[in-house]
Amino acid sequence: MRLQLDPSSCDGFGFCMGLLGELVAGDEWGFPIIKEANVPAELESYARQAVKACPRKALQLVPERACAGGRPT
Ligand code: SF4
Repeated sequence: MRLQLDPSSCDGFGFCMGLLGELVAGDEWGFPIIKEANVPAELESYARQAVKACPRKALQLVPERACAGGRPT
């Protein structure tokens, strides 16, 4: 699975960074950046919790071969 972030939907509140700090960090303005999009199996349950906790649905967990914006990733 891979993490995807839609920055235009994100409010920067930071639940994702608190729940999944291994893969998501904050930039200098406090908005999340994905450090590592590939989610290791041992972090998948935490990734699912972070996606579920995102109040803006800006964070998504997608299958490895999913397309973003119609283009292959
Ligand atoms: S939890 Fe969602 S809305 Fe909040 S900072 Fe993370 S991605 Fe953005």
